[in-house]
Amino acid sequence: MSLRLSNGAELKMKSGRIAILIAACLFAGTDNRAHADEPIEIFDAHLHYNWEPKPFYQLDEVLALLRKHRVTGILATSRPNTGTHALMDAKADGLQVVPFIRPYRVRADIGSWFSDPVIFDLVQDEFKRGYYRGIGEFHLSGKSAENEWVKKTVDFAVANNLYLHAHADEEAVEILMRHNPRAQIIWAHTGFGLPGERVSALLAKYPKLWGELSYRSGITDGAGKLTPEWRGLFERYPDRFLLGSDTWVSERWASYGDIMAGYRAWLAQLSPKVAAQIAHGNARSLFADRR
Ligand SMILES: [Zn+2]
Repeated sequence: MSLRLSNGAELKMKSGRIAILIAACLFAGTDNRAHADEPIEIFDAHLHYNWEPKPFYQLDEVLALLRKHRVTGILATSRPNTGTHALMDAKADGLQVVPFIRPYRVRADIGSWFSDPVIFDLVQDEFKRGYYRGIGEFHLSGKSAENEWVKKTVDFAVANNLYLHAHADEEAVEILMRHNPRAQIIWAHTGFGLPGERVSALLAKYPKLWGELSYRSGITDGAGKLTPEWRGLFERYPDRFLLGSDTWVSERWASYGDIMAGYRAWLAQLSPKVAAQIAHGNARSLFADRR
């Protein structure tokens, strides 16, 4: 090891002991700085570990990627559910895995699951594993949510204290809530480009609705600054938003670090308390162990 002092002081090391002391101080300094600069912990509340038939990253690569970007919790789903089983079986240190039942076997199920009794059977079968906390992510657009199999799914979720993870437009969210007013819905993408005032109105109307922010537009302006509209939403509803990567295709895995850096850039513009709630606090309270 070579030790260089950058201040130019003429420091003669007369004994090995002094050198060791200096080295110890320098290392202690580095260590403190590293802690102070540690990026805010993130709970990724929209992670797909798809497995059809092989995952993009091997399990150990995924776990290393999460560690590298200080992601300490994940809402995990996969198509088929094999990827979620693997994440659960890994029992990785320092990672809270919250498994959701994906109601899809293959990609084509996205467009038909809501009228397919076989999918309802799949959900019930999968639930028998005993560790699931929710159902989703599933896709619904407008009146497709009115289907009886969707209502059965919502009722099943309520009866078993499961969250729903819904990629749904405003109309479909309203229909889901009408199916069963006790539904608890994590709203994937928070309406994409839906005007902030509509998001605000829905959050006010449904206390058990949380907005997950992957692909959500309008949060920052072209220069990366939080927009007044979204700063207002975060400050009005600090306990109602979650972050997610939405690794639905390989490119999202490849840019995982950028996605997390993008979140941290605008989180840093909020108060530390609100930033911590959105980054991980809200997900931690939603998925605290059931008693
Ligand atoms: Zn997704």
